[in-house]
Amino acid sequence: TQAHVQAVEAARALNAFVVETPEKALEMAKASDERRARGEAGPLDGAPLGIKDLFCTEGVESTAASKILKGFKPTYESTVTANLFRDGAVMLGKLNMDEFAMGSSNETSAWGPVVNPWRAEGGNAQLTPGGSSGGSAAAVAADLCLGATATDTGGSIRQPAAFTGTVGIKPTYGRCSRWGVVAFASSLDQAGPMARTVEDTAILLKSMSGHDPKDSTSLPVEVPDFPSFVGKSVKGLRVGVPKEYRVEGMPPEIEKLWQQGIDWLKEAGCEIVEVSLPHTKYALPAYYIIAPAEASSNLARYDGMRYGLRVDGSNLTETYEQTRAQGFGDEVKRRILIGTYVLSAGYYDAYYLKALKVRRRIADDFDQAFEKVDALLTPTAPSAAFALGENSDDPIAMYLNDIFTVTVNLAGLPGMSVPAGVDANGLPLGLQLIGRALDEGTLFSLGGAIE
Ligand code: GLN
Repeated sequence: TQAHVQAVEAARALNAFVVETPEKALEMAKASDERRARGEAGPLDGAPLGIKDLFCTEGVESTAASKILKGFKPTYESTVTANLFRDGAVMLGKLNMDEFAMGSSNETSAWGPVVNPWRAEGGNAQLTPGGSSGGSAAAVAADLCLGATATDTGGSIRQPAAFTGTVGIKPTYGRCSRWGVVAFASSLDQAGPMARTVEDTAILLKSMSGHDPKDSTSLPVEVPDFPSFVGKSVKGLRVGVPKEYRVEGMPPEIEKLWQQGIDWLKEAGCEIVEVSLPHTKYALPAYYIIAPAEASSNLARYDGMRYGLRVDGSNLTETYEQTRAQGFGDEVKRRILIGTYVLSAGYYDAYYLKALKVRRRIADDFDQAFEKVDALLTPTAPSAAFALGENSDDPIAMYLNDIFTVTVNLAGLPGMSVPAGVDANGLPLGLQLIGRALDEGTLFSLGGAIE
């Protein structure tokens, strides 16, 4: 833990951590040593982790990278972090992210962007670690922590994992409790781990998961022994390649990566099957209606009365207006505007209801595919990490990053990104594995075969 505390301090230029908690870390490590001496060590005893700032941590500032939550110290611990600490994990601090997890490059954070520890060969430009879990990805990739918590509403675990050569899994919706996780789009949000190996993510996910009566969408199911799936033979598994993911303009190196993944799985004894997910092209528009709609509703609670920032006006309405005008960043405001628009009378049927119907179709497509195959293989993202600033003025270009990941959230399925080599500039690329609901185990086996 001491070595990791020092590493975090030495790597401040990455801006991966927004709060460092060295005293707490050393205290937790000491308690861990004592448990170990008594022969009571837990499965994560002494493992130093970073915690995405979307998770409420008791007594430690939790801002979701927003000015509006500046100074907010929760009086409670999120279920996921409580589970990790129960098993002996040590918290090094809180990790930077896009504001309220809205973004794909970590540039919407009120506390500044995170720098990807990777550089293109022969290039010096600072690259994005992806988002919204950019701090988690950069901290894991730079060896500042053994693993990190992250969240994924439309790709925020998988795309940053792909951009930093790390492993990330978004489990089935309901596998991890959302209690104490600041809400973005409640029907899509899921917590999950990021780490450097498939096995480490399996160990962390086992600890994070489990039924929680405090979250009504948490699933009352047993948690499988995820680590036991890593290294298991994948011989005879049927893996689907969805033809609609061969999108127009796909860079040749992404095509090559995908083919490489297919070849690896064939060598490992999998049967590769072409499948069709016909409604894929509607996923991104549906996501960018449903996610902002839910966000506009969830973010109504930041009124200057209950948490963090308050900017006093001459009356109550003005106080609301000024608090929200000064507290929220541009991307968050854009989402609130889109969300209130698609939910308003007169537009609800044309946009929101339509998007919900598309969502149903997308889930049906997956159900049909999973009658024929055990998992799906796709690229995680349409490119390698791009330069900081490259897409920040173009929201549509930024949203296109999520083209391969949002379908999984809309259908509630588990999805994992595994590092799968580098591009021509030496930058990491990731492959995505998608599984049946509650079948993370198969993803751990296939991920282990690719790794
Ligand atoms: N990039 C997507 C968005 O901005 C996904 C974010 C996420 O998964 N939290 O909404």
